[in-house]
Amino acid sequence: MYIKNNRFTQWIRTGTIVLFAIFSSACNTPPGSNSNGEEKPATDTTDNASHTRLSENAMNNNAPRASHMDIDKPYLLGKVNAGQDSMLVEIPVPIAHRSGLFLHRDALEAFLKMRTHAKSEGVHLQIISAFRSYNHQRWIWNSKFNGEQLSGGKNMLHEYPEPQHRVEGILKYSAMPGTSRHHWGTDIDLNKLSTRYFQEGKGVREYQWLKENAREYGFCQPYTPGRKDGYNEEPWHWSYMPLAESYMYNFMKKIDYSHLGEFHGSEYAEDLNVIHRFVINNINPRCNTP
Ligand SMILES: [Zn+2]
Repeated sequence: MYIKNNRFTQWIRTGTIVLFAIFSSACNTPPGSNSNGEEKPATDTTDNASHTRLSENAMNNNAPRASHMDIDKPYLLGKVNAGQDSMLVEIPVPIAHRSGLFLHRDALEAFLKMRTHAKSEGVHLQIISAFRSYNHQRWIWNSKFNGEQLSGGKNMLHEYPEPQHRVEGILKYSAMPGTSRHHWGTDIDLNKLSTRYFQEGKGVREYQWLKENAREYGFCQPYTPGRKDGYNEEPWHWSYMPLAESYMYNFMKKIDYSHLGEFHGSEYAEDLNVIHRFVINNINPRCNTP
């Protein structure tokens, strides 16, 4: 009996190793960007293959995932040109509140299905922000830092004359350039950037509908109330997890503080432990990665 069990265990082990080897090699196909970290040309078709494979899983959020895609640094940092990228597609108006908003095509496909379902139940969902480039995030960040744009209704330059405190103040509402999930093309902001909006009137019903149904379409709310640190609550921000999981996995492996720079206050990023506090940790555990 002991010997039989032992052989059985060996067989299982061998089988597992073989299966692991098959999955590893099948899923290590790069998503189309150059291995030297340059932006991928729009005509590159390797992307299409790997993302088609991903979208088969995308509609079934409970499907087990064999592995993560390999994603190059420019994609993790938003250093891509949305208009020239084959993965990102422009969201039609009025699905987006204005023209010029881009989203990963798999995330848009899932959102359209979710939106149709919501509409059939009288709930209106509109995308008001989607993919954001590094440069766009830098413009948002710097204008808040300079006091040219309000953050949480306040002028941060006046509120926090000391730069490190100002950086901490801005981080409650905005990501440092390079660390936003919006760089990935997987995350969307819906209807209104206002917590109060989702606490009264039709916003309550919209938020309730999303909490009950978004998961079915692969969307998760990363910035829920009650987390200990990280960004403030954002009822409007939803992340398409079948893709975002892979982006997070790659971000954790490849991005460090040497990649965050050329914006006001970037010198405080490491001291404030921004990557761990705002990207990797303090996310709704249901949206977090492996
Ligand atoms: Zn957002």
